[in-house]
Amino acid sequence: MRAKTAVLRLGGMGEVVLAGRITAALAPVVFVTRRAWLTLAAALPGVVEVRAAEDGLDLRDCGAVVDLQGSLRARWLLARAGGGPRRGLARADLRRRARVWFKLPPPAPLPARFAAAAGVPAAPAPWLTAPGPPAPPAAWGLVPGAAWATKRWPPEAWAALITQLPGTLRLFGGPEDGALLSMLAEAAPARVEIIVEAGFERTLPGLAACGVVIGGDTGLSHLARALGRPTLTLLGPTTAEDGLWADHAHTLGVDLPCRPCSRFGGPRCPVGDHACLRALEPGQVAAAAAALRAQP
Ligand code: SF4
Repeated sequence: MRAKTAVLRLGGMGEVVLAGRITAALAPVVFVTRRAWLTLAAALPGVVEVRAAEDGLDLRDCGAVVDLQGSLRARWLLARAGGGPRRGLARADLRRRARVWFKLPPPAPLPARFAAAAGVPAAPAPWLTAPGPPAPPAAWGLVPGAAWATKRWPPEAWAALITQLPGTLRLFGGPEDGALLSMLAEAAPARVEIIVEAGFERTLPGLAACGVVIGGDTGLSHLARALGRPTLTLLGPTTAEDGLWADHAHTLGVDLPCRPCSRFGGPRCPVGDHACLRALEPGQVAAAAAALRAQP
């Protein structure tokens, strides 16, 4: 039997999802991550076991270790964990900072750097299967929240979009998004279902049963794409070329010289008007989503 390979990625959620593009090729995999992402990591292909980094690591039963974090903390954790030969992610922090400050070309997309670190090819989408029987992709999926304020499309724009999309809508988010989603649901209460949870038990099958998912540059948008759902991503302070969406055509963004203004998003717009997302019209988004849904 093939020896287990330990794969470490602590966060964020989108990056854990993207790590699933290489886990099948490394199977059987012991995935090490933050406790918050354990159920998500357990759903990645090839993963036979998950371990929380917070619990202290013992990887002596693993024949090889792939560090997809590449940070000092990850190296510190792995130095004490044992395990077989180690391969690691080539971090691109300086290139990414130069991209933001001087608008230089970005480094290679993260999935490509994950694949290079592991020495295996990155799987194409979809690379994730939702648990349970498949459901017909009927509803629109909406992901209005985001960890950083500059990545969020304004609530009034989401509310207008909800009124323009026909049929059933499903709003997704974590517990921190509950108030926002409840407020947005008032735009069409009879047609909206809300899925808010810290885990992924309802989120995975719920996303998998959406005809098209519309969201910002967030982990749940990556999850929708991993599940093979047509995903329209609204990009503001980050751009499609900046790593996570580089091989994904279905993005909307406004061409502004200030983009990208940060590597991850931020609490406020450095320019002050947040035009990168405020200039995206609900009608424009609804039309793009409808066109995506009409594709064979
Ligand atoms: S408008 Fe420009 S500076 Fe402001 S958040 Fe968007 S990309 Fe950044």
